[in-house]
Formats: sequence, C-alpha cells, structure tokens
Amino acid sequence: MRIDVLSLFPEMFTGVFETSILKKASDLGAVSYHVTNFRDFADNKHKTVDDYPYGGGAGMVLKPQPVFDAVDALTVGKKPRVILLCPQGEVHSQQKAEELSQEDHLLFICGHYEGYDERIREHIVTDEISIGDYVLTGGELAAMVVIDSVVRLLPGVLGNEDSPVQDSFSNGGLLEHPHYTRPADFRGMKVPEVLTSGHHENIQEWRERESLNRTISRRPELLEKARLTDRQKKWLEEQKKQ
Ligand code: SAM
Repeated sequence: MRIDVLSLFPEMFTGVFETSILKKASDLGAVSYHVTNFRDFADNKHKTVDDYPYGGGAGMVLKPQPVFDAVDALTVGKKPRVILLCPQGEVHSQQKAEELSQEDHLLFICGHYEGYDERIREHIVTDEISIGDYVLTGGELAAMVVIDSVVRLLPGVLGNEDSPVQDSFSNGGLLEHPHYTRPADFRGMKVPEVLTSGHHENIQEWRERESLNRTISRRPELLEKARLTDRQKKWLEEQKKQ
C-alpha cells in the first residue's frame, strides 16, 4: 500500500511512521509513507495557503489551489482513495479501517485553521473521516489514528500471535475479553482459575462469556449488530429474562 499525506506540518509524522508496528510495516515493504507539504505547491510569492473567508467571520480558510495542485501532482495515472480528515465526516470505525486496508493507495488531506474551501471537499475527496465528536487544531493527529488502524491490518504486519481477528469490534463485533499474564498471584490479586487450568474449551467459553458481559456493561449498543456464538445467544437470552 502507498500512503500519501498532505500536511502543512510534515515533521509531525516522523516519530509515528518511524516507530513500532508502523515502522515494521514499512521495513517489511507492506506500506510506504510519503508526506508532502502542500505549501510547496502554493503559486504565490509568499507561499500563502490560506485566506479570509468570503462573507467574513473568524479564522482562515485553506485555499483550493495548493491542495488541488498537490493532489494532481501525486495522482498522475493513479486513482487513490482521497480522504479528508474532518470533524463533519463519517466517524471512523474498525469496519472502515478494514475497508481501507483493501486499497493499494490512500491519500490523506489534513486541514488546519478554520477548515477547507468547500470545493476541495466537493471535487477531490472520496471519503470524509472524523475521529470523534470533538474539534482538533488540525487533521494530522486524526490522519495518524486512521493510518495506524489501517496499516496494522495489512497482511504480515502483525504476527499470528497478535492477530487482529480477536480484537474488540472484529471478534463478532463485541469488545474483547480481559487479559492476564504472569504471575498468577500478584499482591494477592489472583488470575481467574480457568485461565491457568490448561483446559482450552473452558478457557474459550470463559472468554466468550467475558466478551459478552463487557459489551453488555460498557457498549450495549454494539449488540445490535454483533455476530454472537450460540452460547452467547443463550446467555444473552438468560440475562434478558432476569
Ligand atoms: N471549522 C471546522 C468545523 O467546525 O467543522 C473545524 C476546523 S478544525 C479547527 C481544523 C482541522 O482539523 C479540520 O479541517 C480537520 O482537518 C481537523 N479536525 C478537527 N477535528 C477533527 C476530527 N474530530 N476528526 C478529524 N479531523 C479533525
């Protein structure tokens, strides 16, 4: 996968793309990252990328010209998904990350200041993504969140052990069960006995039950679209009767 990012602050991405799993993914050749400062495409002497909003009001608006020219230059002969980070977009989800992980070229546009000239949204963008109902100063952190969620799904990036299939939202659409590691007794706080029993079927049953219970107590709305196992359906029915 090729990932292009258009940003006025390319240095923000250095640490993120050069650390941990995102770095491993590029070392493996699963992904390549290309961050471009769209100020370099501004066609005026002072390299200005923003201007006052028509009609007045607070803040500065990103001009269309530098963004259009940067996108044109990066997409010659290519048709990437062009993703605008935007608090007004579709709220990001595991499902969206899975969908984007199937593409071979993504281009992210990070806004700043008051936002973008509307013609960018209307004529270049294929997807608008928000990372939640709050407003950030710029799209860079949001782009990093989306990119991280996509890159970890690319084949070979996580080892078998870390397979994303068991994670929250992927595993039947529920939250994941709790985890414990050694020691079995830490300051008198004990690991549930079943996990040290070596009985795989009982462990699986415990995990399914915990996953269901967590979802019921923390995110009950996820149950509407969840794909439950037969056991989970039965436990849920029992809970409802109580
Ligand atoms: N005036 C805009 C509005 O009310 O919708 C907010 C602009 S915000 C200060 C500047 C930039 O930060 C946005 O253009 C966008 O790229 C990014 N941004 C802010 N909040 C975001 C969010 N929740 N998700 C994704 N991007 C966000």
